[in-house]
Amino acid sequence: MDCIFCKIANKEIPADIVSEDENFVVFKDIHPKAPVHLLIIPKKHIGPLSALTEKDREAVAGMILKAKEIAEKIGVAKSGYRLVFNVGKDAGMEVDHLHLHLLAGKPLKFEF
Ligand code: 5GP
Ligand code: ZN
Repeated sequence: MDCIFCKIANKEIPADIVSEDENFVVFKDIHPKAPVHLLIIPKKHIGPLSALTEKDREAVAGMILKAKEIAEKIGVAKSGYRLVFNVGKDAGMEVDHLHLHLLAGKPLKFEF
């Protein structure tokens, strides 16, 4: 499948990986929007949030728990962080391999 995040998960293209386990890879966003901008992805291809089904429940819960674990590990849990799923065109979603943004490192604006 021609999916850029599958290629990152399979090490076919490089990425700045900060954490990896059996199920998830966490890497730095190539165009960071905050001092800390990480992406949490399942290794197995899962489509966008809009296409999730019951069988994805465990993977999605695992992504959120992984984000919490990483926030603690990199030392932003106390200062705070934001987790974002972009869904569809108006959210600017570019990649259709499910991914969770972890943003931190400064007071984050919330404006549109
Ligand atoms: P989306 O807008 O789909 O929620 O977010 C996709 C994110 O992936 C964007 O923030 C974009 O900068 C990032 N991204 C796209 N291609 C690559 C890549 O090849 N490597 C890395 N590290 N990040 C990427
Ligand atoms: Zn994929």
